[in-house]
Amino acid sequence: MADIEPTAQSNAGNGRSEMIRGTLSIPNVGSDALDIPYFDIRGRRDGPQLTVLAGVHGTEYTSIAAVREFVRDIDPETVSGRILVVPVVNVSAFWARSPFVVPGDGKNLNRSFPGDANGSTAEILAERVFNTFIVGADFLVDLHAGDLPESLVPFTIFDESPVEAASRDLSVAYGLPHSVRQNATGRIVAGSSCAAAAAIGIPSLVAESGQNGLLERPAIDAHLDGLRNLARFVGVLDGDPWPVREVHQHEGWDWLYADQAGWWQASKAIGTSVEAGELIGTVSDVWGDVCTEVRAPGAGTLLFHTASPAVAEKGILAGIGRA
Ligand SMILES: [Zn+2]
Repeated sequence: MADIEPTAQSNAGNGRSEMIRGTLSIPNVGSDALDIPYFDIRGRRDGPQLTVLAGVHGTEYTSIAAVREFVRDIDPETVSGRILVVPVVNVSAFWARSPFVVPGDGKNLNRSFPGDANGSTAEILAERVFNTFIVGADFLVDLHAGDLPESLVPFTIFDESPVEAASRDLSVAYGLPHSVRQNATGRIVAGSSCAAAAAIGIPSLVAESGQNGLLERPAIDAHLDGLRNLARFVGVLDGDPWPVREVHQHEGWDWLYADQAGWWQASKAIGTSVEAGELIGTVSDVWGDVCTEVRAPGAGTLLFHTASPAVAEKGILAGIGRA
């Protein structure tokens, strides 16, 4: 139960602005209860509803930091419509410092949307978050970063959908230097909040900036600037959006995985262009002998890689946004 009901009729546009702090409480999920804090900012004038999520992965701290600062800087008098903000969706992962997954069931929350009320912890959490904060929104942005062992250059992701053109516009408004379009059949990241939202007609965007659990100021600022500009672009926040920035659009992904456990060592810097067949890194055994040379299957830009040398069999090594 939420201690206020965020899906109730909004008072946005009724001549009064306010910022409400609420908690979505989900009792008895596995052995835990989950209490998820959120802000419900209601403007004095009519306008769209923007939902902002962060901490779907609980150790991607730059995303959480940017959303915290975004909210604290908002004067509700400058809002038209409604902004729903959830700074830390995956609260149990945050408190456990658990990368990638929900500790209760070991599942990736961002592969679990739109969720299942009768499923395991991640699926129950996804279902409640989806139906409480996403259904009814006009736009969704979900902030992420490289997780504890991941390094990346900032990029956005949007999905093939009936609202794809509007999602692409959000990616341009966010202003990160790279953007990846995922088609529906070749989708690597299935079950994301944004894919589920787009499937029900809500233009939506994943935004990634930051890495390795570090609170690096430039990475936080990239999120903060992008989020504010997106809010202005959709008309929920006063102010003119900045002039359109150039974004390198990538058509899909190549994600590279370890064919055996070992010592992963990247040989290309993130952000660099690669050609088909180019060496991305190696996996070697405990003796130091190289077992696998990992090569780019096609041309593109190396958008992220695993920074930790210790990789499991089938573990993710790197992601290339196709040229
Ligand atoms: Zn993430």
